[in-house]
Amino acid sequence: MRQDFKLSTQRLNLQLLEMLFPTLCVGCREYGMLLCRNCWNTIEFLEDQNKQILSACSSRQPLIRKIFNAFNCQLIKGLDVTCAEIMFKFLLERQELPSEDFVISFVPIHPRRQAIQGFNPNEAIAREFAKLLNMPTLTLLKKTREKPNVYKACDSESLKILLIETSLTEIKECAEALKEAGATEVICLTFARDF
Ligand SMILES: [Zn+2]
Repeated sequence: MRQDFKLSTQRLNLQLLEMLFPTLCVGCREYGMLLCRNCWNTIEFLEDQNKQILSACSSRQPLIRKIFNAFNCQLIKGLDVTCAEIMFKFLLERQELPSEDFVISFVPIHPRRQAIQGFNPNEAIAREFAKLLNMPTLTLLKKTREKPNVYKACDSESLKILLIETSLTEIKECAEALKEAGATEVICLTFARDF
């Protein structure tokens, strides 16, 4: 009985939340989903790829810029899942999903910045992406200094790693740090790039 009461209270809370903060499409504000089917279908994946770093989309696309900004500022909850799904579809269409012997990792941000920001966007997307592939997410890198950036990699010996960053900024330096620490293969994947 008490369990039933708890469940109906939780349901009521969710309904109240939905009334106060309705789920609207980040692209067109239509009610129902964070990214409606119509907006999903307008996403263009980048065909022209840098050999060492794959980027799913261009942040010059207005919809991608909207998703990216809303996610980074944490204006809308749940966009980490949306970004991960976009990256997953991108790799799926290119037939470049990593094999089962890969692990997922992410570009760290400096602890001071993380304390201010409250989260690491790269890690949030990486964890959701790993769930889609049923793969482990490992914290393999630490950012020990900013300007110039210094990264420290650990426990990477003989690993095959899919490394994730939201936009293309520091992923190359991180991939180099992982290789120096013994990783056998590092695939770099970013949600967007701004060129
Ligand atoms: Zn929409």
